[in-house]
Amino acid sequence: MTTTAKRTGIVRILLGDEAVALGAIDAGISAAYSYPGTPATEIMETILAAAPPGVTAQWTANEKTAYEAALGTSLAGRRVLVSMKHVGLNVAADPFINSALVAIGGGLVVAVADDPGMHSSQNEQDSRYLADFARIACLEPASSQEAYDMTREAFDVSERFGIPVLLRLVTRISHGRSLVTTATPRRPGPVAKVSDAADWILIPSNARRQWRRLLDTQAALEEWSEASPHTTLEVSQDDRGLGVITAGIGRNHYLENVPDLGYTPSHLHIGAYPIPGAAVRRLAEGVRRILVVEDGYPFVERSIGGVLPTRWEVQGRASGALPLDGELTPDTVRTALGLSERPHVGTDGFGLPARPPQLCKGCPHHDSFAAVLSALDGLDTPVVTSDIGCYALGALPPYRAIETCVCMGASIGTAKGASDAGLRPALAVIGDSTFLHSGVTPLMDAVAHDTDMTVLILDNGTVGMTGQQPTLLPGSSLEPLIAGLGVDPGHLHVIEITPRRVDELAALLRKEMAHHGLSVIVAVRECIEAIRDRRRPREQ
Ligand code: SF4
Repeated sequence: MTTTAKRTGIVRILLGDEAVALGAIDAGISAAYSYPGTPATEIMETILAAAPPGVTAQWTANEKTAYEAALGTSLAGRRVLVSMKHVGLNVAADPFINSALVAIGGGLVVAVADDPGMHSSQNEQDSRYLADFARIACLEPASSQEAYDMTREAFDVSERFGIPVLLRLVTRISHGRSLVTTATPRRPGPVAKVSDAADWILIPSNARRQWRRLLDTQAALEEWSEASPHTTLEVSQDDRGLGVITAGIGRNHYLENVPDLGYTPSHLHIGAYPIPGAAVRRLAEGVRRILVVEDGYPFVERSIGGVLPTRWEVQGRASGALPLDGELTPDTVRTALGLSERPHVGTDGFGLPARPPQLCKGCPHHDSFAAVLSALDGLDTPVVTSDIGCYALGALPPYRAIETCVCMGASIGTAKGASDAGLRPALAVIGDSTFLHSGVTPLMDAVAHDTDMTVLILDNGTVGMTGQQPTLLPGSSLEPLIAGLGVDPGHLHVIEITPRRVDELAALLRKEMAHHGLSVIVAVRECIEAIRDRRRPREQ
């Protein structure tokens, strides 16, 4: 049963992320958990600002702990939203994939914002593959209204099938604004613990039974996606041989170009997954060629190869009809439809200055990187690994101080491996929030082997890059935490980093890099933007 709540008639202009947040609140969540990450951050920001009393809304250490907290809420029979960016789902992959095998109680919806075009991410991965991999349902909005409606519906679907449901967003939906009419809110339900614990204990004998249950649910899930109002098929009588399949935001780009085609191809839109195979076959009956317009990976394009015999020509991102990388745009879709280019108003000739990303003026990382460069001066084979955060800009001029930035928390493990391999001194540079996210466990590896390396934690007291969300624990907790892991107190230092203390930090780094064992230095100074943010007058 899908949500059919009557609209209250309140119309707002909302970001897709805001619409997801309000949809979840109006669906009666009792909790929401998240770790900040563009373009998903605004979902939790909105819930924190708008959730009624009694709704738990928390930033967590990382996406895995967020997902696990959400599982606990579902176990208690209450609805819960967990949100993250696409690479965050990699961190949460273990509980996410396994949670498809437990009997979800209260609806569990995971809103994941993908970033095709990599506006603020290290890859373009497409979360629809992970929903498919987990064998769960997925909804993909193409507007803020759909983001609101689908979020509400996702909770119903989760409870109906006893599985988590993934809501897949892309940057243009998360950060695009359009009108949303909200519906009558539903109140959070009571605590109602799931009755059969065996459905949640994934020891092999139970897991085999639960896996069979999940497999047996697949046919019903496909029936649901076939019947979904988000699967729409319009068969055209105009026989030019072309059928178009759109998914998510692809529909918007396609519809923008249709008037220029001079005819209307048959059109199947997919907003609900598993891919509705029967609808694909009905579309194919009347056409010879199918163009798939989807943002991200060629997920539908590749999947329908298993649905259709080979006599259909299927085009899309994999075939080269659309670019395989970058964001889908109305212009690339236009070209794939065989239309001529539209005239552009370019900015060439305006002499606009290039504006490469850079650290804020007054950012404490300036002083830390100045110290790092000074400490490394004259060394033969140093290696400086780093991490995800504003300090990744240390890769660019004027510092060019770091050599790696792969994924959250990777700097410490990578420095350990490089040191083990003989690259020394090995220096790992990591922010406080990233350290708490996933730097603690690799530091345990380094402690266990007293690895010859130095860790420099830049404690600016905030998650700077995503808009100054609070670091999970105060900076004062870092030193006892690190000491508690077993780092030698003689090689654990906390220093306030100011422009006047650059030489002092450089000297400390040199001393500890010369030490044949593990050392940790915490350089403390608050992010200048966080200070400004705190001093900014608040709206009443
Ligand atoms: S937001 Fe904060 S941490 Fe990031 S560059 Fe600006 S001052 Fe530095």
